[in-house]
Amino acid sequence: MAPDWLKPALILQEREDRRRRLETQLAQIPAERRRIEAAIEKHRQEEQEAKEAVQALELERARLEREVAEKEDQQTRYKNQQLQVKKNEEYQALTAEIEGVEREIGVLEEAEIQVMLDLDTAREAATAAAARRAEATAEENHRLEVLGQREKNLEVELAAAGTAVTEARAGVPREIVTRFDRIAKTTPLPVVVPLRDHRCTGCHLKVSSGIEFEVLKGDEIVACDNCGRILYSDA
Ligand SMILES: [Zn+2]
Repeated sequence: MAPDWLKPALILQEREDRRRRLETQLAQIPAERRRIEAAIEKHRQEEQEAKEAVQALELERARLEREVAEKEDQQTRYKNQQLQVKKNEEYQALTAEIEGVEREIGVLEEAEIQVMLDLDTAREAATAAAARRAEATAEENHRLEVLGQREKNLEVELAAAGTAVTEARAGVPREIVTRFDRIAKTTPLPVVVPLRDHRCTGCHLKVSSGIEFEVLKGDEIVACDNCGRILYSDA
């Protein structure tokens, strides 16, 4: 016959196990939240970087435009000077200057075309990054909401589970509770386990025949000589 303490001890164990599982689940939530927040931040950064790439190219285009305008002014000045010079070699020298500036303008305009092409690509990339962010962030925010709800639910369940453990403890003899607490501090549940086929079902090792005899008798609280779990006979 099973000893009187067995049933309440098993109830305590089951409730303590549930309480611990809830605690573990609750403890995982902050890390999960950080992962989601990091994903949101990553999408925000990608959008920001794409925007900055567009802005940098716009600045570069403006800079090239200014430079072309300056070169054109310079050209105009040379042309005006040319109208005033008397000597042929001065006229030739200014022609050479004008041609030089012309070539510089050509180089700048080519650079400008490349920047415009790059700008098209960068703008497309920025639009795509913004769209990706909008879509991903909506989903991630939803996940955060679900997680927050889950956290609240777990807190409620954990509180109830804690109460259930306290109630269960009241029904278990003090000696068993003390032992249970001591073993459960360092050993994973279950710590109240049946003896089967001469073995402790907690650590799966054979127990001595003396221990088995005591367990079958059921008068005393008997611990596994290997792992310290409390043994009972369910034969
Ligand atoms: Zn054992």
